[in-house]
Amino acid sequence: SRSQSVWTSDKTIKSPFKNVDIPNRTIPEQIWENLGRWPDKPALVCGVTNHSYTYHQLYKYSRNFATKLCNKLGIRDHDVVCVMMPNSPDYALAVLGILQAGAEVTTVNPIYTAHEVQRQLLLSKPKIIISVPETISILKDALKLAKLDIPIIAVKTANESRPQGTISFEEFALDSTVDHSVLNKVSSKSNDIAFLPYSSGTTGLPKGVELTNRNLVSNFMQLDNEEVKHHCDTTLLFTGSHKDVSRDHLAHLKVVTSGAAPLPLNDVLRVIEKASPGMNFLQLYGLTETSPLVTAMVPGSENYSSSGFAVSNTELQIVNSEQHSLGPNEVGELLIRGPQVMKGYRDNPESTKAAVTEDGWFKSGDLARIDEDGAITIVDRLKELIKVKGYQVPPAELENVLKEHPSILDAAVIGISDAKQGEAPKAFIVVKEGHKLKPDDVMKFVEERVAVYKRLKEVMFMDVIPKNPSGKILRRVLREQYS
Ligand code: AMP
Repeated sequence: SRSQSVWTSDKTIKSPFKNVDIPNRTIPEQIWENLGRWPDKPALVCGVTNHSYTYHQLYKYSRNFATKLCNKLGIRDHDVVCVMMPNSPDYALAVLGILQAGAEVTTVNPIYTAHEVQRQLLLSKPKIIISVPETISILKDALKLAKLDIPIIAVKTANESRPQGTISFEEFALDSTVDHSVLNKVSSKSNDIAFLPYSSGTTGLPKGVELTNRNLVSNFMQLDNEEVKHHCDTTLLFTGSHKDVSRDHLAHLKVVTSGAAPLPLNDVLRVIEKASPGMNFLQLYGLTETSPLVTAMVPGSENYSSSGFAVSNTELQIVNSEQHSLGPNEVGELLIRGPQVMKGYRDNPESTKAAVTEDGWFKSGDLARIDEDGAITIVDRLKELIKVKGYQVPPAELENVLKEHPSILDAAVIGISDAKQGEAPKAFIVVKEGHKLKPDDVMKFVEERVAVYKRLKEVMFMDVIPKNPSGKILRRVLREQYS
């Protein structure tokens, strides 16, 4: 289904895959489309506890849950519900319930600290929070910091019972029945927002990324392509470098896909060496703002450094700093246009305007080149974002934390390379006159305030942070001199 010429005369790169029709459906409608074919097949199984739901159970319980969200807690179309849970079958059940209640899902990493949770609660303004017993105390601290009082629904886990003062997830989902008249009133449509994840984009602090039902349904359809479909994911740097991961462990792997962060070729080769000869290694590329998939490599390719081709219905462009389109193999910023591009950043028209052009091109903040056939290679990151194990670490967030320290006058953070995690943050600190500070003091201060993966790897003291005349940190200078 792939066509040959992908470069057009105006230097836009078309997808080599056939366009797909995108149905006018919400995400649950899309997911339940084939329900009748596999009602009793497990839809989700927890790898740790074996807890599972069949498709029929997932359908039934998520609709019960939606009914209760509307009936008992007054959730209405376009309300936001926050999910702060680790991966589990109940995660999917909760999300599908929220969407069928017509509400929007904002997702919070369950390893966040109270400081981090507080910020997202204030920005996303959820009406209800769904969580697990293990994170309730952090959640309560976050609510206190934010001066908010939001009901919490708690999912029972294998080790912990439901904390006092929380609503029972099981009573809402498993022990109740669906009220069709309630769900019939939900009027959420394909162009309404479904997800509100947070991403810092090209600069600054995390912003709410408005993803519509249509954005996600488009990305499902774009993935539902025999040449693009992949089924696995792996923590690749870990797998390649860990001494206990042997050939036997990887003998049955057929496809390994990697995305979310740059991947050094050596690390790919280390995994391939341990894998069976028939294993395919494929890179994918995408962003939160693009629902997420933009490009995918096709099986059989040995171009491991490339992240492949634009998925169906997707156009790419490479532009220089004056926004002029470049040709094959020239390096510039990657622009993306397609039905998976977000609607915008919540309550932030300025950042939205800076990120998406009037004719729909999204500025990725990534430096890339595209060859004559349309295969893309991500070369570097133009934006200030640091990625640790694929997670976002916005420098501005760490700089704000550092500047809260009573002895710190100024701070700047950049990413440095790290063999196991891809990258790690390094801080440059200007200490206030008359104050004394050791690197350990700075690291500990940060450790207490941020999730594990955002912790500093290195601290360096300097007299002044290099900045341009308007006060913007010259990260390139820091990177070139000190990383
Ligand atoms: P996120 O929004 O957290 O998914 O982060 C998106 C960013 O991750 C992209 O803008 C890239 O900087 C990086 N990224 C994702 N996939 C790849 C890839 N295959 N190669 C290099 N960088 C990637």
